[in-house]
Amino acid sequence: MALEIKVLDYGDIELESSFLVLGRNCGSTARVPTFGYLILGDDPVLVDTGYRSPEIMASLGMRGLQYHEQLIENQLAKHGLKLRDIRYILHTHLHIDHAGKDDLFPMSTTVVVNRRELEYSVSGLMHPQYPAPDIKHLIDRLHTQNALRFLDLEISGGEEIVPGVICEAAGGHTEGSMNIIVETAEGIANICGDIIYDINDQLIEPFHQTQELEPAVTGNHGTTKRQEKSAIKRALNRGRFICPIHDRPAVVERGQVIGRLHDQVPGPITKSYPKRKWFPA
Ligand SMILES: [Zn+2]
Repeated sequence: MALEIKVLDYGDIELESSFLVLGRNCGSTARVPTFGYLILGDDPVLVDTGYRSPEIMASLGMRGLQYHEQLIENQLAKHGLKLRDIRYILHTHLHIDHAGKDDLFPMSTTVVVNRRELEYSVSGLMHPQYPAPDIKHLIDRLHTQNALRFLDLEISGGEEIVPGVICEAAGGHTEGSMNIIVETAEGIANICGDIIYDINDQLIEPFHQTQELEPAVTGNHGTTKRQEKSAIKRALNRGRFICPIHDRPAVVERGQVIGRLHDQVPGPITKSYPKRKWFPA
């Protein structure tokens, strides 16, 4: 069964531009969206839940901007779903803007995280990006039958959660980040979390890079730059579509972005990019 993916819009974040792309426009503010992805098949699966409240973003010196229609229950309602209809929540990682609404969902909705990510969230290494109420709620789930599911992706390899939805270790951004691989009618889509923040400035016109096809790194990686670049390249070579959380999805061919999509995957291409001259037909 081919799965469909809908982009959910949870609101924007204003933050320092170089947080997103290392060294870019230091001192100036950028505004980015925060998305979730709803995977529609037999059992609805939700990837990421956005931030708990606009106010909590101030704890990182950022600003959350959210309209009423961007509340998670209203985003799900656009697709005829209520919170309790979601069978699984998958988290690309547990940062403040990705796992802030789990406590709105019943314990019968199972939250799936890579075990390494929950360990990392309490390591103190990226401390303010893992706020106490979100992580404490996950501990409540840990103590409730079937409310939490751990993966060990670095050791086990990919794990299929429902038919056509596979979690894989991402290898970048945070120590426990995972990619969500989805089998659609037009090929594999890779929901890649914050492995990539900005499609244009990291991939299409990579900021301050001179080597061919060298991605620019973000300003917020808990791994090495080498690991982050490898994670980006792996994500680009994993399927037909890449779906980041803070930028619109893109179409990829042979590791190169050739188009953009808007609010569904697969969906109409809203922008195309010229292929490089050497690009084989
Ligand atoms: Zn994020």
